[in-house]
Order: sequence, then structure tokens, then C-alpha cells
Amino acid sequence: MRRVYLDHAATTPVREEVARAMLNFMVEDFGNPSSVHSWGRVAHEAMEQSRANVARLLGCRPTEVVFTSGGTEGDNLAIMGVAFARKDSHNHIIVSQIEHHAVLHTCEYLEGHGFEVTYLPVDGDGLVDPDDVRRAITPRTSLVSVMHGNNEVGTVEPIAEIGRITREAGVYLHTDAVQSAGKIPINVQEMNVDLMTVSAHKMYGPKGAGALYIRRGTRLQPLQHGGGHERKMRAGTENVPGIVGLGVAAALAYDELDEIPRGMTVLRDRLIAGLLSIPRSRLNGHPSRRLPHNANVSFGDIEGESVLLALDMVGVAASTGSACTSSALTPSHVLVAMGLSHQEAQASVRMTLGRVTTAEDVDYVLSRMGPIVRRLRAMSPLAEGSLAPREAETAASGAHLQHAADLDKPGCDCSGDKGVRR
Ligand SMILES: *Cc1c(COP(=O)(O)O)cnc(C)c1O
Repeated sequence: MRRVYLDHAATTPVREEVARAMLNFMVEDFGNPSSVHSWGRVAHEAMEQSRANVARLLGCRPTEVVFTSGGTEGDNLAIMGVAFARKDSHNHIIVSQIEHHAVLHTCEYLEGHGFEVTYLPVDGDGLVDPDDVRRAITPRTSLVSVMHGNNEVGTVEPIAEIGRITREAGVYLHTDAVQSAGKIPINVQEMNVDLMTVSAHKMYGPKGAGALYIRRGTRLQPLQHGGGHERKMRAGTENVPGIVGLGVAAALAYDELDEIPRGMTVLRDRLIAGLLSIPRSRLNGHPSRRLPHNANVSFGDIEGESVLLALDMVGVAASTGSACTSSALTPSHVLVAMGLSHQEAQASVRMTLGRVTTAEDVDYVLSRMGPIVRRLRAMSPLAEGSLAPREAETAASGAHLQHAADLDKPGCDCSGDKGVRR
């Protein structure tokens, strides 16, 4: 059976070049970068090479890059770091309602510790209105955090415009660029941001490695205390293999930024067009201001989860809006913020393409989707001409049991989410 992985927003495979470089820094050049001997110097130099590679991808100075354990830590360090550093004079933070849980749950934590948080709405395409940012800023605002590319629906936010507003107001701007880094051009200068999060495993590097850009002069309190690593911003012996992997992945992504995304956009649009040819389907997210690898479509009358199960049986990996919130009780917060009903939000399927995805892969998936949707609609209690309610209920609950048993859970892109799954 053909196997097609369309869940690259959840994670990506590690590239050969990346894995080889990492292996060397585990087995051969295993030194501690803080050591003065030659083992230490070799590790230190490799780490600084990675820092330069990441800086090139982000458009910043190497000294403005702090290595982290990934996107979640980057978001935590940026938001709590600024919040605690400025808390005496500024206890207000502004974020959008469609942020990743690494941002939203951090803000909820801060609300329990004396901070005030404004959650900005988005329009039907998932866009934040920069004027809403302007209106929400008060003299006590320390930080605005709006993501660059949304992980569920792919909408790309007007960060540069928001940055002009925060600059003028003397407020820091953080952006979570985990989904956009390596997929579309990013540049911290042009985007007017003070802090930017990236993660290695979303761009063909290893899990557990990432970086936070911190503009020179930004006031930030470290969250982790110990040795003086990473300019005192992040104590702990550095994850050298992970950092080397991130550096190689960042260099490759930067070099290929021109070729791959263009071809990917063509494939994405072929996939979207095919999905939308299925009756009663709708595209979620902005039609053009959109990450090149993201397709997110809702199908009337059926649950996205049932589609995932059926796709899995024909060798296709996809996800619902956000794998971690794929519970009957909690539809995607992103889709709900965009104005979808709970039922429409449950009906969404996200497919995210990668470097190796081919037109044949897309066509294979499309050839399966039509029949899958037709079959599920025939069983759905919501659809016309369906089974009697009792029968349909049994069929649906059977699918759920199978889901609980079989799918725990490759497609999760919001690690650290606590207990919302069935
Ligand atoms: C995956 C993801 C994260 C979390 O990154 P990890 O490295 O898995 O901790 C944060 N934000 C966005 C937008 C993501 O897609």
C-alpha cells in the first residue's frame, strides 16, 4: 500500500545530512562546549557555527540567538521572560486567540500570577487586525505576541504592520515562527519583532531543539538558573547534537528557500482544489495569505476524526485542526475563534505537505477522499438519507472506540497540552 505522510505541521523527518552531523557530535566530538580543552573547543565551535546558521535564517546577529529545547520553551521564555522582567511597571500582555497552546497556556499561567491578558479576536480567515492591537495597548502593556504562520489553518499574520505599532508604543513584539521558518522568508528586521521562536523538528531537524531570537537590548528574565550558559539566558549544558542538527537544518532551509516552497504551493493548491471539489466542503484559513504547506478543509455532516481514521487505513497521515484538541468536547480554539460552529470545527481535516510530497501523493489522497467522505456521510446522523438515528449512533461510537485504542497519537503538534484528549 502507498503511504503518504501529510502531517508535516506536526513534525518532519530528520534529513540525512542533519542526522549524520548529529551522530558525529554524540560519538566522536562529544565534548562539553564549556571545557577549555580541544574536545570542548570543537563542540563550542560547532555550536557557534549553528548559531551563525540560525542567525542567517532569521536575519539577526548570532549573539541574538539563544538555543532552547524547542518551540514550547522558546514561547515560554519569550513571554514569561518579558513579563517577569517588566512586571513592576507593566503587567499587561496582548496575544491573539489563535496562538499555539505554548503561548496560550503560558498566558493563562501568568493570569494566575497577577498579570492581565488581552486575547485578540481574528476575522473569518484567521487574520488579526493590526488596529485591534493598537487599541488594546495600554501604558501598562509590556508585550504583544502574535504568531507568524498559524499551525492549524496556515494563515500568515501581518507581523510587520503589527511591529510598526508596537515599536511606536514602546512595547515588545514576540512572534512564534515555528511553522513559517524555512517555509517562507522570515527576517526579524523587516518584521519589526523583538523576539522570535523557531523549532528544529518542524524544519527537518531533531525534536527537542530550537532557538529564540532576542533583539539586543531586550529586557528578559531567564527562567532557568545554573551555569552562565547562553549569555545567562538559559542555564544548562547545551544540547550540542540537537544544536548542530538545528544549525544544519537551518542552513539547508535557507539555501532552499527559493526552490522548494514554490513547488509546494503548486501542490498545495492542487490538493485544496481537489478537496473543495467534494460537495459541501469549505476551506479554512486565508485563501492566499497562507503557509505553502497547509491545506485545511471542513466537510459538512461528518467528523474530521472519522476521516483521519479512514485515511489511516489507506496509508495516509493527516490530522484534524489540531491533534491535541481533537476531542468531542473541545473543538479547535482556532476554528472557533474564526467563527466556525462547533460542528463545523469538528469537521475539519488538516493536511500539511513536505519536501518529498509529490503530485502522485496528492492525487492518491484525492482519489481516496471522495469515496471516504461519501461513505461517512451515508453513516452520519446529520446527513440527509442517512441511517436511522439508533444505527448511526452505534456506528459512530464504534469509530470512537477504535480511535481511542488505535490512535495515540502521531499527529500532535502541541506537545505539553494537558489532558484534553479522551
Ligand atoms: C509545534 C509548534 C510549537 C511547539 O514546538 P515544540 O518544538 O514541539 O515544542 C509551537 N508553536 C507552533 C506554531 C508549533 O507549530
